[in-house]
Formats: sequence, structure tokens, C-alpha cells
Amino acid sequence: MKICRMLLMVVLPLAFSCQSQKLYKEKTAVKNPGSLTMQLNNGYWFDGQVFVKRDVWVDQGILSFKKPVASMDTVINLSGKYIIPPFAEAHNHNLESAYQLQQRINSYLDNGVFYVKLLSTIKKRMDPLMHHYNKPTGLDVSMAHAPLTGTGGHPIGIRKGYLEKGYFGGLFNNIKEIESHGYYTIDNIDDLQNKWDQVLSFSPDFIKLNLLYSEEYDKRKEDSTYFGRKGLNPELVDDIVKKAHDSKLRVSVHVSTAHDFHVAVEAGVDEIAHLPEIHNGEPISVADAKLAKKKDITLVTTASLVLKNEKRPNYAALVENISSNLQILKREGVRLAIGSDGYFDNSVGEFRFLHGLNIFSNLELLKMWCENAAFTTFPNRKIAFLKEGYEASFLVLNKNPLEDMSGINEGIILKVKQGNLLRP
Ligand SMILES: [Zn+2]
Repeated sequence: MKICRMLLMVVLPLAFSCQSQKLYKEKTAVKNPGSLTMQLNNGYWFDGQVFVKRDVWVDQGILSFKKPVASMDTVINLSGKYIIPPFAEAHNHNLESAYQLQQRINSYLDNGVFYVKLLSTIKKRMDPLMHHYNKPTGLDVSMAHAPLTGTGGHPIGIRKGYLEKGYFGGLFNNIKEIESHGYYTIDNIDDLQNKWDQVLSFSPDFIKLNLLYSEEYDKRKEDSTYFGRKGLNPELVDDIVKKAHDSKLRVSVHVSTAHDFHVAVEAGVDEIAHLPEIHNGEPISVADAKLAKKKDITLVTTASLVLKNEKRPNYAALVENISSNLQILKREGVRLAIGSDGYFDNSVGEFRFLHGLNIFSNLELLKMWCENAAFTTFPNRKIAFLKEGYEASFLVLNKNPLEDMSGINEGIILKVKQGNLLRP
């Protein structure tokens, strides 16, 4: 590969505001005036199904298949190389702590993961770190901020534990003060009405709901032994989804059980943030999978969370059940997106786990990681595809991933984000 720099332009990071994604808005590409102008010759570009040999141009961080009149400052010969859209991590929480943050950011970018969906964040902790994100040379993040849960529900237990360990560095004095920042308790319609304006005041990109063991909602709701292991009243989910959709916000739902999945699908949420039954080993219903397809719901895999159970005697059965549930979802055509929910992962580990299950073809895995995960992270952006007018963000590989996908993240020889060359 030869990179010929005829004129090196000053690359200015352009910060763009991360406003609430509107539900059914037309897709837009984020332009980058600081982009290189590039001519990319003879590469094999992924068109969503196969690799097609073509010449491609980049101007203002946007892809074009038509030769522009203006001269290019950078010409790259991609002869024999394969070009794919960047990877995305559709479920994580690991970008809101300053501790060793640069290592985690580098781990994403080095592995070609440019987009991260943060399924709950404390805005007060994120704000001082936002200079790292949503710029042409960095990671792009979308955020829900505080998730909606029931009294005593997940993630209040985690927030309480972090508070007691001093992880919040004096931001909050007690767990009550974390409400609205780290969680909202919604136990009835009045709570929903009274707290909704405050939810919107944090400008979330989407709304996150927590359903856990909703089939036992009545049994668990008053019982403090289930602190942190319960969630919303399932009867409220319809109303919350309607309210979010009226505010043009997509809804993502944490689910634990097959019944949580059923409730979420029936309510017409936009995304299921986990494969259900990772830790319990029950089958999901085929009818629910069919309905998820019909309602165009995306499911984020997080299947590698099962590794937390490796020492349990039923581990093999849990993996067997995960495989079976994934096969149901695949057979019914549900859109699956790769996301790990692993603090020490960046979606590469989740990809490897799924690859090892031998359920999905290389083409399916590529679409789950590059297309579906990016779509559910930024549904209104022209990313995830190498199309005319889309953002010029892509990875260049030495080998054809449709033939061999093992070690794909280690075989990236060039990374371009919005027309900028990313350096290691
Ligand atoms: Zn999570």
C-alpha cells in the first residue's frame, strides 16, 4: 500500500453536538471540513453482501463513487485490500470513569470500534470527559443517562455499592441524591408524569428501561432481599414506550428472563439490550421472536456474559441454551447487533464468543458488527454502510473477511474516520 501525500491539510477536530436522536428522522452524514481529500484506488469495497472492486473519493469526510473536479491531497492504492465499515459496540458502560480511560479508548480505536452505545451513564461524570468523544478523530458515543427502574431495582444496588466504595468522588452524599443522575424510580403513572420532564432535561439520545424477573414483579417489589434484582412494573412499559416515542426517543430495554423479553416485545420497544436467559437457561418463545421481527426490534447479543458462570456446574447447559435462543432469533430474522456489556471488552470478545458458537456465517457476523451495531447506536446517521454520501469511516483489511474472519481486528492495516487517518 502506498500513501502519497501531495498536500497535507491541517486536520481540525470538529466537535458535533450529540442531540437527541429523533425516531423517524431522515439519516444525515456528519461532515468534517478538516478531512483529507482522498482518492482510493483499486480496493474491494463491501457493499453489504459482497466485495466490489472500485475507486472511491473522500471530501469533507464524505464518501463518493464519482470522481470530483477538485484535486485530491492524498492518493492511496488499495490494490488487493478489503474495505469494511467500522465496528460498533452496542452495549457498554466503560467510558464514564477517568481512571485509565485513555487505555480503554485506545483499545476501541485500535480494534476498529468507532461507535459505542452507553446503556446507562451518570451525566455529571460524563460531562468532564466529553472532549474525548464525538469528534472526527475519536470515539462516537450515544447515551441514555439514567435508566428507569422500580423502587429498589437495578441499577440502584450497583450505584449504592460504587457510592460506598467512593467511586463517585464526592459527587453525591447518599443514594437518594443519585436519583435522576444514576436511575429514576417509576412505580406508577404519576411517577412517570412527574419525572418525565426531568428525564428529558438530560437530553438523552434514547431511553433505557430495566426489566428483571418481571414475572415475579409482585413477589419481589416489597421484598428487600431482592434489592437490585428487580425492575419496572411490567404493566407500565406500554405507557413508558408511548411517552418516549411521543418525545421521538427510541427505547432500549434491559431484560433478564424470557418473560421480560415477552413484555418488551409486546410493548413495541426499539431495542432489547441483552439476549434473555443468559444466566437462567430457559428457552425464549418462538412467537415472541416472530413478533420482534414483525416490530423491527433490534436485539443486542451480550452472549459472552455467560462466561461469568464458567465455574457453575450448569455452564455447558447455559451455553447450549444461548445457542438455541440465538438460533431461534436468527431463524425468525430478528436484527441482531454485537454488544458485550463487558467492562473489559470492547465488542471484540463478544465477536469471538459468537464466532466460536458456529451459528452465524462470516457475512452474518460482519453485518451484526458493522451494520446492525452501528445502526442501533446511531440510527439517524449515514454510517455503517459504504455508500455514496455516507460518512467516510472505514477499515482496510489484508484478507477477505467473508472467507476468514478469525483475527479480523488484528488484521486492520488502515483506519479512516470521517476522512481522517487514525494512527495507533
Ligand atoms: Zn449493561
